[in-house]
Order: sequence, then C-alpha cells, then structure tokens
Amino acid sequence: MSARPLLPYGRQSIDDDDVAAVVETLRGDWLTQGPTVARFEARLAEITGARYAVAVASGTAALHVASLAAGVGPTSTGLTSTNTFVASANAIRYAGGTPGLVDIDSATGLISIAALDAKVTALAAAGQAPRVITPVDFSGSVPDLAAIRKIADRVGALVIEDAAHSLGSTYEVEGQTFRAAGCAHADLAILSFHPVKTVTTGEGGAITTNDARLYETMLELRSHGITRDPAKLLRNDGPWYYEQQSLGYHYRITDIQCALGITQLAKLERFVARRQALAARYDAAFAEADLAELVAPLEVPAGVSSAYHLYVVRLKPRAAEGLEALAARRRALFVSLRAAQIACQVHYIPVHTQPDFVRHGLADGAFPGADAYYASCLSLPMFPAMQDADVDYVVASVRTALREARS
Ligand SMILES: *Cc1c(COP(=O)(O)O)cnc(C)c1O
Repeated sequence: MSARPLLPYGRQSIDDDDVAAVVETLRGDWLTQGPTVARFEARLAEITGARYAVAVASGTAALHVASLAAGVGPTSTGLTSTNTFVASANAIRYAGGTPGLVDIDSATGLISIAALDAKVTALAAAGQAPRVITPVDFSGSVPDLAAIRKIADRVGALVIEDAAHSLGSTYEVEGQTFRAAGCAHADLAILSFHPVKTVTTGEGGAITTNDARLYETMLELRSHGITRDPAKLLRNDGPWYYEQQSLGYHYRITDIQCALGITQLAKLERFVARRQALAARYDAAFAEADLAELVAPLEVPAGVSSAYHLYVVRLKPRAAEGLEALAARRRALFVSLRAAQIACQVHYIPVHTQPDFVRHGLADGAFPGADAYYASCLSLPMFPAMQDADVDYVVASVRTALREARS
C-alpha cells in the first residue's frame, strides 16, 4: 500500500489555461511591466469595486508603499493587530515609523475594537496619535471596519485594510454589503498573491484605493519615485526625459506574473465557493457533540461572508487549565496530525512575542486575547482542490488524536 500523500494547509490551483497564459506572455514583447500589468490592475479594480489598483512585487511591498503613501515617516506611529504575519507591522518600520500592536478578540482572531479604541485614545493623549491603522482581515473574516473608520477619523488617521486573506470576502454595514479591499471604509487596502493566498501570481501584491492622489503617489513609489508625466515634470529635456521626484523603490511586478493573475482572477468565484463549501463541511463535523466539547471553529462575525483563506479551530480549555497546558495539548494535536500526513499550521505566532519586536521595545502592553488565542489555535488544510473525503479524513484524525489524548 502506498503512503498517503501529505495534505498541506494551503495550496495553489494551477490549470492548463494558467500555464498557457504565462507561455503566451513569454513569447510576446513584454516580460516585465507592460500592458498585462495594467489589464490585471483593471480586473482587480473591477473585482474589489475600488476605483484604482496598483500591482506590485509582493504583499509586503504593497504594505510598504501603502504606508509611505499614507504619510508614515520617522515621527509616526502605526497600529496593527498582533495576530498577523510580521509584514503588516514591518511595513510601518520600513517607512521609518513605530508600530504599535493591538490585542485581538480571541473568538474571531480579529483586532479588538475596544483595545484599538483604548490605544488610540492613549496615544492621542500623549500627542502621538497614529498616522495609520492597519486592521487585518484574518483568515478571510473582516473586522468591524465601520467602527475602525470612526476611531481613525477621530484622530485623522488613515486606514490600510490588510486584505491579504480576504479577496472575495464581503461584510455588512447597516444592512448594506461591501467587498473586502473595496475601500468603502478604508483609505487603502493591500492584497497578496503568494501561492497560499486565494489567487496567485507566484509572488505579487497590490494596493487598492478610491483616492486619486494616493494612487498617483503609489505609481511613483513602485518605480523609483520616477515620473514621465509631462504635466508633473519640472523641466523637459526631450522625449527621453524623466525625473525622480521622490525616493521610490523597484517594486514592480511582471507581465508574466500578471498573465497568471488574470487567469486566476477568472476563477476567484469558483475558488471562494469551494472554500466555503469545505468550511461548511468542517463546521458541520465540528458541531457533532463529541467534537464540539473539545474544539471550536473560529467565529466569523455576523454579516461577514468569509473567503476562508484559512480554516482555524481552537482547542477548548479544560476547567482551570492554564495557557501552558493548553498550548502543550495543541502542540500534541499538531504532532499527531502531522504523523497522519496532515500538515496543519499555526497562524500566527503573535508579533508581540517576536524577538526583534521585543528587542526594539515594540512589544509593550498586555495581549490577553492574543495569548489565549495563540495557545489554542490550529489551521487545518483548506484549498480549492481539497476533496470532501480529505475534510472527512482530517476530522477523523482530529477525533482520534483528541480521544487518545483524553484517555
Ligand atoms: C501573506 C501576507 C502578507 C504578505 O504578503 P507577501 O505577498 O507574502 O509579501 C501580509 N499580510 C498578511 C496578513 C499575509 O497573510
């Protein structure tokens, strides 16, 4: 009998039409930034509902460019969730600012609105009102962006929605439905097209916005701070002429990558529908009494339709169980599943525990929500090519592991 292949927690879906689109680009005139980048950006704007999209080399580059465009600099503070990939916080540091980490609601994994409100109030009282707030659409869920908008407006901060997990998610505000990264409640939103994300370009990212001025600034930041726009040039030496008018970066994405992005975007609805169907199958299984006692799926806030970049479950703490004991049980579950050829993951190691943040004094404060969450969370396999039988196998393996742990 052959060994069961490893089931990863996430995986790209590449079809023949994706391959053909990339090959066609390779045979064409443009490899790096050309007309396909602009076509990809137009599709992104259409799909998110934002007026403008700027495609860049990675989600991290998108966060850096967005932070700079939002005016983060050496005297600025920027706030983000501690339950995120380090890049969300690093972008504030790249721009010269100081990141402040905010605790989460352990039931949803999303930034705690109460903790954010308190932090913004304290910073403003100290004369250090944040320049940006970067909430994270963790796992595909969307935090209360309308509440975050209000808090930001109180102190003149810009909102950068980290939508790396949520392309294809929607949320409701006062009965109206909005798309993640559509920038109805954020000034800027960032996307990532890393292979584990909902659609991929290999590596890649984008920023969306409805603000023409931010858009123009980001186009320059993406490419060395250079402009060729005759209306902007201070002088004009001839048809070859360009000017560097600010310090930008080489963060361009290629036509090769964007050709893949365009064929991938055509499948977004199908990918999201499949992820939601897999999540529903997991949810139903974890609602069965013997499992519901032991584990709980991450809660999705009311009104949110998640694109389920991740499917996260949390081990339920036993009576009077401390976080260390809980974390040890989660670790044992992780190891058991790995032995059953299930490569689950933990999202995320809280940023406030990362040594580089601690060393630079960027981890101050109490994070009870994030600490409780981190001790108990586990991301189970979730990707469009997964079969229903794979979900059943994962659930059966969780059941076996937990039953063995109890006896
Ligand atoms: C993946 C990710 C990023 C960074 O994207 P890259 O394309 O890998 O640079 C940023 N934020 C979150 C929440 C992510 O998951």
